Amino acid sequence: MSHWYQLDVADVLQQLGANAKEGLDRAEAERRLAEHGPNELAERPPKSPLRMLWEQFTATMVLVLIAAAAISALLGDWKDTLAILAIVIFNAVLGFTQEYRAGKEFAALKKLAVPKARVLRNGVWEHLSARELVPGDIVQIEDGDQVPADCRLLECVNLRTQESAFTGESESVEKTAAAIEGENLPLGDRRNSVFMGTAVTYGRAKAIVTATGMETELGKIAGSMQSVESEQTPLQKRLEQLGRRLALAALALVAVIFALGMFQGGEFDDLFLTAVSLAVAIIPEGLPAVVTIALALGSKRMLRRKALIRKLPAVETLGSVTTICSDKTGTLTENRMTVTILSLAGERVDMRESFAQITSRLDGNKSIFRPGEGVPLPASMALTLMGSSLCNNALVPDEAEDTAESVIGQETDQEQEPDGFSEAVNETKAIGDPTEIALVVAADRLGLDKEELEEVFPRQAEAPFDSDRKRMTTIHQIQQPWQNANPSVQLLPDLSIAVPTPYVAFTKGSVDGLLQISSQVWKSDRTEPLDETWQQEILASNDKLASMGTRVLGVAFRPLEQLPSPGRESDVERELIFVGLVGMLDPARPEAKEAVETCNHAGIRTVMITGDHPLMARHIAEELGISKNGQYLTGQDLDRMSIDELEQRIDEVSVYARVSPQQKLKIVEALQDRGQIVSMTGDGVNDAPALSKADIGVAMGLAGTDVAKEAADMVLLNDNFATIVAAVEEGRVIYDNIRKFIRYTLTGNVAGVVIMLLAPFIALRLPLTPIQILWINLLADGLLALALSVEPAEENVMDRPPYPPNESVFSRGIGRDIIWVGLLMGLTFLGMGYWAESIGWQNWQTMIFATLAFSRMSLALAMRSERDLLIHKGLLSNKLILISVLLTFALQIAVIYTPWLQPIFQTRSLSGQELLICLAISTIGFWVVEIQKLVLRPRSQAKRKHPHRAH
Ligand code: ADP
Ligand code: MG
Repeated sequence: MSHWYQLDVADVLQQLGANAKEGLDRAEAERRLAEHGPNELAERPPKSPLRMLWEQFTATMVLVLIAAAAISALLGDWKDTLAILAIVIFNAVLGFTQEYRAGKEFAALKKLAVPKARVLRNGVWEHLSARELVPGDIVQIEDGDQVPADCRLLECVNLRTQESAFTGESESVEKTAAAIEGENLPLGDRRNSVFMGTAVTYGRAKAIVTATGMETELGKIAGSMQSVESEQTPLQKRLEQLGRRLALAALALVAVIFALGMFQGGEFDDLFLTAVSLAVAIIPEGLPAVVTIALALGSKRMLRRKALIRKLPAVETLGSVTTICSDKTGTLTENRMTVTILSLAGERVDMRESFAQITSRLDGNKSIFRPGEGVPLPASMALTLMGSSLCNNALVPDEAEDTAESVIGQETDQEQEPDGFSEAVNETKAIGDPTEIALVVAADRLGLDKEELEEVFPRQAEAPFDSDRKRMTTIHQIQQPWQNANPSVQLLPDLSIAVPTPYVAFTKGSVDGLLQISSQVWKSDRTEPLDETWQQEILASNDKLASMGTRVLGVAFRPLEQLPSPGRESDVERELIFVGLVGMLDPARPEAKEAVETCNHAGIRTVMITGDHPLMARHIAEELGISKNGQYLTGQDLDRMSIDELEQRIDEVSVYARVSPQQKLKIVEALQDRGQIVSMTGDGVNDAPALSKADIGVAMGLAGTDVAKEAADMVLLNDNFATIVAAVEEGRVIYDNIRKFIRYTLTGNVAGVVIMLLAPFIALRLPLTPIQILWINLLADGLLALALSVEPAEENVMDRPPYPPNESVFSRGIGRDIIWVGLLMGLTFLGMGYWAESIGWQNWQTMIFATLAFSRMSLALAMRSERDLLIHKGLLSNKLILISVLLTFALQIAVIYTPWLQPIFQTRSLSGQELLICLAISTIGFWVVEIQKLVLRPRSQAKRKHPHRAH
């Protein structure tokens, strides 16, 4: 069989049983989906459950325990062996379930990150998850997309793709639709095919899917490309180091205990088990699991707030962000636009006015208002509107045009459940850039339907929008409009004076840019040279609109005798005839204003970076509170400045306008050189380098391209600035909770170690048995510690400056607390045991055991907050910890009073009096931590005031 690339388009369609106009019907697509399976690479699960379970038993600490159990067995101590093994298994099950759950969460996150594809089904273009593609599907791809499956091109406009993954060639390759001869061509030479996993860098195309999932070229080599290693976060790495150090410390201590014990004439097997359990007591085995769980739960909470984490370390870095750089349009602003249209002939249409007002002005008060039909248009206005509507890639179905305002709103306000992200977009809704949708709707309101216009002015070629040129151009054939009966065209005046040629190019884009490539203006019925006066006049209108916070696009046209040769479309962008301005009022998002305010309190700087006009940018920045000093830099300024010069100004300038993606990179670098932890947003292909370079690259979920998402650490599902700030808040909470866990678990461990170490000095033999220590460790790390990782945010979490990302986990009093609170607890409990023994209480050992176990309950409660008293937080604000406390208590009571457990745990039933004494004394750590908060609080509050004043 000959290969897809060797066939003509018609043969490809026929062989795949597809129709280029209608696409597959849904039933057929479903059948093919069942046959070929979903369009995804069969991914080996990062770790099989069995392997995960196995790892629980082979962790160093557990191996030590298993060895201990074996030695006990050899020594004939079956009870201990069984007890240790039971605890080992329990611990493994606990560890396993935690890791398994975390793994599930991440897998779910990965699913959400699957790109969307534009697919033709039953004659309707739909947005589907790329997983649902089947061979024979007709898809559309355009610059910024990740190619969703292997496809043969049907039609293409300047399509270029980046195929370095296959060919190693980093230059983009030009594509065509024509059949190619030759047997077994290498992939790089199959110019009429595109391959899953490559990126579209330019142009657009319609294509038919030829292979999906593992049948694609990517699937064939997937085995070698799959990276299974999931990245460790910086904190995870540091904690691993901490674990190793503690293990060494434990080993040294164990040696000391052992020597001391032998010196005192202790039994070898007693000492051996004591030493082993002491080692276990010191090492926080629960740490890795708790950190993984905290990160997993954290990314889930972020998702609930519409931030999709793509790279796990981001969860942590987010908490340390010091500067957030944000796009303006759609992120800080609503991108819900009302359009004002100005022609250079002086006509004006304001979409906020009633239709009657508009028509009366356009029609010199004469026209009779006929809703829905429009008015005969003057030439300047007609050309401006045609340019807006034709030089435009938005797809606005007729039903959607009627509910114009709400449609534009919906694009950005989508209130979707996170799980709905992968669902199909309602196909009656408008698809495209909200700016462009607004323009199509505006033209339609005045009677010009985009589809009807396109019948008469079919698009022949285009130079797509890119954020470097800040404009786009489309080239249209003109098919004798006046002989055509469609209603839109009847509203057009005779355009043959303006455009006497067979073709016309329409360009829309930034006004300053258009002025540089225009040589004439169109006024009512003739062209005039674009002289200095016109230039000033246009710039003045532009500035006036921009400084009111209006986003302005210029519209120009150029009559063409012939079509440009393929690949040279942007060459027509010269000697244009400037015809009108379109202004879009793009109000600041109210929640963005709040979020900027939150950042100010949280010691985080906000910076606006936009491709828009500086005055527009400054207006919005001032409205949002991003900048008060009125300073801004433009892309041209950035190009002129050296990186050193930029660094000198970057601390005071928070508004960057007319910026191109390359300049974003420079801004990130300058900020990073100044020691900032930078978050940067982006949506386009060219934004990818800046997103990768930033500490947190943030891509837009709605407006963003696949390429930007691929490069990003986080995706905003609602494109909203406030979401970044919410994610930062969650990041801080996660980091706080991990620190709380470390503080809690190590403090308790120190107490246990102190008891074991000092008991021999006051002649108390074996205050704690190995099994008791293991048991406490299990309760504390397993139940209570986990509950700390879901602790809700501290009240001041966004009211303090960010913590440096590389600070020690023991900083800010944590190391101090671990030592002194742990020491105090250990000494007190030991003292109690000594006293009980000295007055002849037989149960002194059980009392020490019970007190140490109970102490973990109140300690966990106190350590829920670093600064707020428990009574202020309320017992009910973390129900999981309350349940864990109750459960711990019940289990401990069971271990003390159940007759058949007593020999295993070597416990004796305590009297009511003894139990009360244990409970009372066990709270010492709690009181110390709480009182310390009271003492330290005024000072930390005074410190908190500063960030407020600084801004
Ligand atoms: P932002 O950085 O705020 O997102 P954009 O990149 O959307 O700004 O726009 C930058 C400039 O590019 C705008 O001021 C406008 O002049 C031009 N522009 C934006 N969108 C389009 C478009 N669809 N067609 C033509 N020009 C556009
Ligand atoms: Mg943009």
